[in-house]
Amino acid sequence: MKLDATDLRYVTSDEFRVLTAVEMGSKNHEVVPTSLIAQISGLRNGGVNKLIGSLAKRNLVAKVQNSKYDGYRLTYGGYDFLAMRALSKRDSMYSVGNQIGVGKESDIHIVADQGGNEMVLKLHRLGRISFRTIKQNRDYLGKRKSASWMYMSRLAAQKEWAFMKVLHEHGFPVPIPIDQARHCILMEFIDAYPLRQMADIPSPGKLYSSLMDLIVRFARAGLIHGDFNEFNILIRRETGEPIVIDFPQMVSTSHENAEWYFNRDVECIKTFFRRRFKYESSLYPKFNRISTNEEGEEDFRLDVVVAASGFSRKEMTILEEYMEEVKDSGFEQHSISEEGEGEEEEDEEREEDEKEKVGEEGAGQEPFLRTVTDEIEVPDWTHS
Ligand code: ADP
Ligand code: MG
Repeated sequence: MKLDATDLRYVTSDEFRVLTAVEMGSKNHEVVPTSLIAQISGLRNGGVNKLIGSLAKRNLVAKVQNSKYDGYRLTYGGYDFLAMRALSKRDSMYSVGNQIGVGKESDIHIVADQGGNEMVLKLHRLGRISFRTIKQNRDYLGKRKSASWMYMSRLAAQKEWAFMKVLHEHGFPVPIPIDQARHCILMEFIDAYPLRQMADIPSPGKLYSSLMDLIVRFARAGLIHGDFNEFNILIRRETGEPIVIDFPQMVSTSHENAEWYFNRDVECIKTFFRRRFKYESSLYPKFNRISTNEEGEEDFRLDVVVAASGFSRKEMTILEEYMEEVKDSGFEQHSISEEGEGEEEEDEEREEDEKEKVGEEGAGQEPFLRTVTDEIEVPDWTHS
């Protein structure tokens, strides 16, 4: 999906009010009745209809005809707008540029701050896979079911943010986290080649060891990446240093399946090096040989730090269950270890599919955020 930067400039303060009202209403309503939108926004009914019509025209909300009543739901575009507006209000970002990545569960854009410094905006898109097809009978979302794609996308962003911050603060090679809002994360742009694109490297053995060392370093700090593969390792153009990205699936080494996750990470690297660089080593880390720091020791347990950082165990569980469901439904993306030995062709196909590079389409778009005209503070007016 594209971020439509041009339209977003023209959202008026009343339209913004209505959009926020739809977001709020969708916490309890899958389809938010127009009357509720009017009520939350504090605008007259007639006025609301017009405003909502113009938002719908720009795909920020979508009309849904229900058996009981007609109403609206927020679209991804609408949610994107609200998140980007929050980031721009905090002066974290200013303009949107090219899309550089499309995953099944995220979109990646280059954005810039007011000084023109490039950053990466990751928009989580967990609801691309319909919830209904995933789980009918487990009711862990409770009332939130109606807003599940928004809720799950936000949880993923919050979790990724919590991990990225803690990892960065403890000197792990990850992008510098800059800001987070709703389902979005703003981070340092890494000028790098993704490992998956590297056809040949001078000393695969050296890179292999440094990646295995990283897995061990994570584990010593109580963490397992959980998706440690060539898609999530970037090789810095200037230094050749590996940078790790993509953290929504990280787990603690105390997780009941920790060893399985750990072995899968190790296996991904082994398999990739064997296939791509014809490099094999009898040396690789083993989970039960790694001694994790105990709580209270001088060193740190980052899983404990993250747990204390505001991303609760309950939220962690909800997200984990969702990810499990998605995986069980056969939607899992890029984990090389689970493929057969069918190789090259399949690999290439998958790369095409999953990380299709987006060309110059978004180029030359003007910065849009400077002319947003509304000045409403949320949620002051929501009780009116
Ligand atoms: P997904 O969850 O969809 O796999 P990722 O966080 O792995 O999302 O990002 C997808 C792709 O976008 C990466 O493989 C990488 O090519 C690019 N990318 C992501 N973050 C950055 C970054 N900080 N700097 C440069 N490129 C990035
Ligand atoms: Mg990834």
